[in-house]
Amino acid sequence: MALLTMTGISKTYQSGATALRNIDIHIKPGEFVFVVGPSGAGKSTFIKLLFREIEPTTGKIFVDGVDVMSLKPNEIPYLRRQLGIIFQDYRLLNDRTVYENVAFAMEVIEAPTEKIKKRVPEVLELVGLRSRADNYPGELSGGEQQRVAIARAIVNDPLLVIADEPTGNLDPETSMEIMKIFSHINENGTTIIMATHDKTMVDFMQKRVIAIEDGYIVRDDLKGVYGYEPEH
Ligand code: ADP
Repeated sequence: MALLTMTGISKTYQSGATALRNIDIHIKPGEFVFVVGPSGAGKSTFIKLLFREIEPTTGKIFVDGVDVMSLKPNEIPYLRRQLGIIFQDYRLLNDRTVYENVAFAMEVIEAPTEKIKKRVPEVLELVGLRSRADNYPGELSGGEQQRVAIARAIVNDPLLVIADEPTGNLDPETSMEIMKIFSHINENGTTIIMATHDKTMVDFMQKRVIAIEDGYIVRDDLKGVYGYEPEH
């Protein structure tokens, strides 16, 4: 069964702007999928639909067999608990340490304290931040902050990791390190969907590439390339 299915998805904002048009997508467990396309193509809209930040105008979305649009407002947190979401700007809690930022994601789902104490160091090790556990985000580089965000996103073993331009604020070398972490997580079985402008990374990784232009899927290649000139 597909982990993510979208059928007949379109999205027109109240302003009248149509961001997505008749999108059909099936993503299987374990896939690594890049979503690429020019600015304004509809990538962020696509990503936001996945965690029901916004609702489509038409169509259906299923995550692990659950009809996302049928969820009642009080059920949406349960959907989001199954997703690890990573943004360009990290979105860490600046008054909490690295350890506390990651632990917080487990506290929210009421994980037992013993499990938290065991699991948080494991994921910090995985992202190479074990020695930074007691630092605050403000004491870290951008790349390190994004590693914390990744650790937080995967600490509860999500069904799906969703990343929106995760290397958008990072230099090429740091971006490569971050991408290696994503690659490692994917090799361990986690499904990843990533919107990106990072041509070098997409071409390097040779994973599935879905290209969106003007709201349409114009390309869906299993071992794809970025296929555009870099915008920035
Ligand atoms: P991308 O992430 O590829 O840059 P977006 O999904 O952000 O593209 O935007 C797709 C289209 O939808 C654009 O025309 C954009 O102006 C429009 N759009 C995005 N968000 C909103 C919004 N909140 N309200 C109105 N229009 C929006």
